[in-house]
Amino acid sequence: MDDFHKLLEHAGLRPTSPRIKVLGFLRAHAHEHFSAEQVYRSLASDERNMSLSTIYRVLGQFVEAGLGSAVVIGDGSLVYELNDGRRHYHVMCNACGSIEEFADAEIDARLKEVAAGLKFSVSDPRVMLFGLCAACRDRDMSTKTALPEKPVLRHQPASMPEPGNKPR
Ligand SMILES: [Zn+2]
Ligand SMILES: [Zn+2]
Repeated sequence: MDDFHKLLEHAGLRPTSPRIKVLGFLRAHAHEHFSAEQVYRSLASDERNMSLSTIYRVLGQFVEAGLGSAVVIGDGSLVYELNDGRRHYHVMCNACGSIEEFADAEIDARLKEVAAGLKFSVSDPRVMLFGLCAACRDRDMSTKTALPEKPVLRHQPASMPEPGNKPR
């Protein structure tokens, strides 16, 4: 608890009860992502005088102070997570809404190169992949008898001579 006080004060936020509760919740669920409503529902039982708008406000303050991060999901709404300073990216399932995260040094490096090439100064390097999680894919597969055939696109260098194999 003392730890939370220090963290909040270090971030320039007075350690109020709602802030301590929300920070405690995010720290207890590191690498997970929650909407304000989910945080509210999880905390409402032990904190009766904390309203949803308080949760929204506290989460917004955390993002501003760098204690938390907000991730925009498919429908434009936000989910929040603890900001532990670790760069990472997200995948989100369109069916069940689950969000997972991954870190990838090669993507970090490529994004830097791409931005440098565009002379673009990046403030928020985010990558979000949407699709179906493994569980939903399995469920999907078992309900379908056959998957529709997808057209296969091939790059066929029809008339390109192979390098080093030029006719003399
Ligand atoms: Zn899913
Ligand atoms: Zn995350």
